[in-house]
Amino acid sequence: MVTSSGEEQAQAEIGVIGGSGFYSFLDDVTEITIETPYGMPSDSLFIGQVAGRRVAFLPRHGRKHHLPPHKINYRANLWALASVGARQVLGPCAVGGLRQEYGPGTLLVPDQLVDRTKSRAQSYFDGEVRVDGQVPNVVHVTFADPYCPVGRQAAVRTARTAGWEAVDGGTLVVVEGPRFSTRAESLWHAAQGWSVVGMTGHPEAVLARELGLCYTSLTLVTDLDAGAESGEGVSHEEVLEVFAANVGRMRDVLFDVVRVLPDNADRDCLCQKALGGQEPGIALP
Ligand SMILES: [Zn+2]
Repeated sequence: MVTSSGEEQAQAEIGVIGGSGFYSFLDDVTEITIETPYGMPSDSLFIGQVAGRRVAFLPRHGRKHHLPPHKINYRANLWALASVGARQVLGPCAVGGLRQEYGPGTLLVPDQLVDRTKSRAQSYFDGEVRVDGQVPNVVHVTFADPYCPVGRQAAVRTARTAGWEAVDGGTLVVVEGPRFSTRAESLWHAAQGWSVVGMTGHPEAVLARELGLCYTSLTLVTDLDAGAESGEGVSHEEVLEVFAANVGRMRDVLFDVVRVLPDNADRDCLCQKALGGQEPGIALP
């Protein structure tokens, strides 16, 4: 349901899941409210023009940052973005570094993901009758490579061109939160060879895949996780401080990525074929 006027204003080709720091200064932003068969997204979509393209921004934690990571309605978020036409989604997020060399300010574009979340709905195909009476079929999507290869490459290249030496690849482990890891958990994550730890990268990635969207995660290291540093462990203040210091530079990179992403009609990656011919049983947005 679109509650603002203008059909065209309510369409976007690219989605960005990130806070107001990314869109507040754009001219002519259209705010639209969307209700999905999975409930309400974190907030309205804010749709504006970036580099000649329509981009829908969605504050992941809500505009007042009132939603903790485990209470975010990830299914509604991705569904809402897809329903306005977005087929490529950029998911910037703050993470902890699991290696000394990934200190605060590092931009890492992961190519792998480990899911250690516990309570989150992470599929549209859960066999439950939806509010609209539709029942999804049982579907299994390919997820060996959870991120879009085209989006990843665009992110790494544009960041490097802008002088930010992005780390190309690595494993993002996603924990349930909202607490940070214990030192033992953190040491264990690092010992597995994983690179960074966050709280929101999953199920965002898999839900995007189920909808056939291209999803690219851009992780900003805001702190060294408990096992990788010798101090008292991560604090929320520390995270906010580093994030605030880097939000402008992250926004610049995101806008450059938007500029170089392919037209939706020209996508030739495998993301859109994730269902592999399986019949979803529900109408996808
Ligand atoms: Zn893709």
